[in-house]
Amino acid sequence: PREAVNYFGAGPAPLPTPVLEAASKALLNYEDMGIGIAEMSHRSPQANQILADTKAALATLLDIPDDYDILFTQSGGSGQFSAVVFHMVSIWVERARQSMEKQWANDDTMKNASEHERTQALKSIINTTMKLNYLVTGSWSLKASQEAARLIGQEHVSIASDSRTLRDGKFGGIAQESDWHLRHPVSTGVLPELRTPALTWMCDNETVDGVEFPAFPKTLEANDGDAMVVADMSSNFLSRKVDVRKYAVIFGGAQKNIGTTGITIIILRKSLLPPQAQMASPTLLRQLGLPVGPIVLDWPTIAKNNSLYNTLPILDVWIAGQVMQRLVNTYGDKKIVGQEEISNQKAGALYGALDAYPQIYNVVPDKSVRSRMNICLRIKGGDADAEKKFLAGAEERLLLGLKGHRSVGGIRISNYNAVSVQGVEKLVKYLNDFASG
Ligand code: PMP
Repeated sequence: PREAVNYFGAGPAPLPTPVLEAASKALLNYEDMGIGIAEMSHRSPQANQILADTKAALATLLDIPDDYDILFTQSGGSGQFSAVVFHMVSIWVERARQSMEKQWANDDTMKNASEHERTQALKSIINTTMKLNYLVTGSWSLKASQEAARLIGQEHVSIASDSRTLRDGKFGGIAQESDWHLRHPVSTGVLPELRTPALTWMCDNETVDGVEFPAFPKTLEANDGDAMVVADMSSNFLSRKVDVRKYAVIFGGAQKNIGTTGITIIILRKSLLPPQAQMASPTLLRQLGLPVGPIVLDWPTIAKNNSLYNTLPILDVWIAGQVMQRLVNTYGDKKIVGQEEISNQKAGALYGALDAYPQIYNVVPDKSVRSRMNICLRIKGGDADAEKKFLAGAEERLLLGLKGHRSVGGIRISNYNAVSVQGVEKLVKYLNDFASG
């Protein structure tokens, strides 16, 4: 039975049992309509209400300001690796175009330049100036940077930091901010109005490598022009307080802390959407040799249609909304800080047990950047037999989902919101017993 098992999978991940019980009822008959929630139209009044309620709960939990929008899509976290690039490049290119036009309007030799000359000039500005900064702190930010390079060319992707250089090619640390190489167009002297990079990417929590940013990086605070921070929060969404205003975009798949796999949530500054933001036209992008993204990934289209441009899995939105509403009800005025305290307490208990037996357990990442969500360790320096024995012993106690990601091996304990304090206590007991037994 479900109650007997404690599951520490990395995603999909456990969900609160009462939410799943309610979901199983809603699947058969939603609010006594005689129709199940996965059967009803995504354009029905009920579906609209579910969307509104879910947004409201999220806005409450994270104190999302009015000048931010919340979007839902089916893209998966990986889909946003592409969507972010299409959108932020399009905004940056349009800014560059307008800035160039302004400069040329006052330049006697340039003001009558032909369309073709203008496009060529813009192309050369873009080639030398457009940069997307990536902080590569683990395998997910690495993948995101690779997708950007695939779409727009490696020359536009600036690896501001690569944590692998800290430890012989392996992830597990985050470089000092003073060692980051963030590229700002202004430093090139072209088009001085264009102060911002197209984006600065960070993965707030690296699920595979167990690395989490301890806090928002000081270097990215928006005082020296906007760093256009895009944060992948797929695996630590709703586990701690975030100051939303510091980010241009926050996104994450729902399937870890929030709900089921079908949806991805995007929180973005409204100034990055029309009418405030202007995007390069598809024609211009094609002329410049830059890609035009698929319509289902297009944020302005999604936003304009209240996330209902195409069929949205309302069941998944509803589940996410139920999970969020439980947090609102449980923690009241504390909002997400209530959950943060519990998350920290559980992570503290687990790391405490691991640190008590350094000859048995080797926590992989540096202490200063240890994830509270994905606790990655090796047993006896990666002894395969010992790790097998550990997993077998855990399984006997119905402590499941502890195997590390296939790319790195070892053990990974995922400590998402629905993992109970009691479940963690059982695992801590096992960690003690295994080490001393
Ligand atoms: N980013 C992070 C941090 C992740 O952990 C994951 C999935 N484990 C993804 C992105 C990719 O998400 P998806 O599988 O939904 O595309």
